Amino acid sequence: MVKAEQVCKSFGHVEVLKGIDLEVRTGEVFCIVGPSGSGKSTFLRCINHLEKINAGRLYVDGTLVGYREKGGKLYELRDREVAAQRRDIGMVFQRFNLFPHMTAVENVMEAPVQVKRTPRAEARKRATELLDRVGLADKVDSYPAQLSGGQQQRVAIARALAMDPKLMLFDEPTSALDPELVGEVLDVMKALARDGMTMVVVTHEMGFAREVGDSLVFMDGGVVVESGNPKDVLGNPQHERTKSFLSKVL
Ligand code: ATP
Ligand code: MG
Repeated sequence: MVKAEQVCKSFGHVEVLKGIDLEVRTGEVFCIVGPSGSGKSTFLRCINHLEKINAGRLYVDGTLVGYREKGGKLYELRDREVAAQRRDIGMVFQRFNLFPHMTAVENVMEAPVQVKRTPRAEARKRATELLDRVGLADKVDSYPAQLSGGQQQRVAIARALAMDPKLMLFDEPTSALDPELVGEVLDVMKALARDGMTMVVVTHEMGFAREVGDSLVFMDGGVVVESGNPKDVLGNPQHERTKSFLSKVL
């Protein structure tokens, strides 16, 4: 579903990604862990072309992200083509970024109505079903300010699902939450994983990674230091850097 080949990304003179190679298989939960500043968010943003890569190749579902290849050369896609690629990728951030002036159901139906031109009644019905799926059937008409952080994050997940993505990206979806609200968001993510969604999850929740993750990479300094089955990498890390990181977070 996602394939990265020697992906490099710099901001000015600072090289943030230094040749990332990895592959996310369809239907798997792929976890990315690593210290602050290691390039995890930057890599996620490259997957949906919110950041342009400087070298290497990045594919989603067999298609090059952001570029077209012709005669061995790369040509940048137009904004409209990039937007079309991005439509298949749902993203959930640390901060929920809901529209504050819209109710939960309006937040969820917004993109289908605006982007896909889905009729409002149909979009509302689907949005209501999605809110039910994330356990918020009774909060359909609530505004974000009336919801807890965990509830807002679940609305954000429903909103991403409303576009029927084939891939979901999560960037530390629970780090801004009070500890007692983390579980309800992780439960929704677990259900999504059981339903077969392909998910790339940047997280500090090692319990989630071990229990739900199919693969895990440990990133540090813009490279993948170690990768494998989460239970192996977390339980029996091979590299000093992985050991030292895990000893601080576990
Ligand atoms: P955290 O765990 O704190 O979220 P991270 O692994 O997600 O960290 P990134 O946000 O990807 O790390 O940042 C990696 C490096 O890239 C950092 O040194 C950061 O300062 C730098 N960086 C990220 N975005 C930009 C930008 N737009 N311009 C300049 N530097 C940036
Ligand atoms: Mg980050």
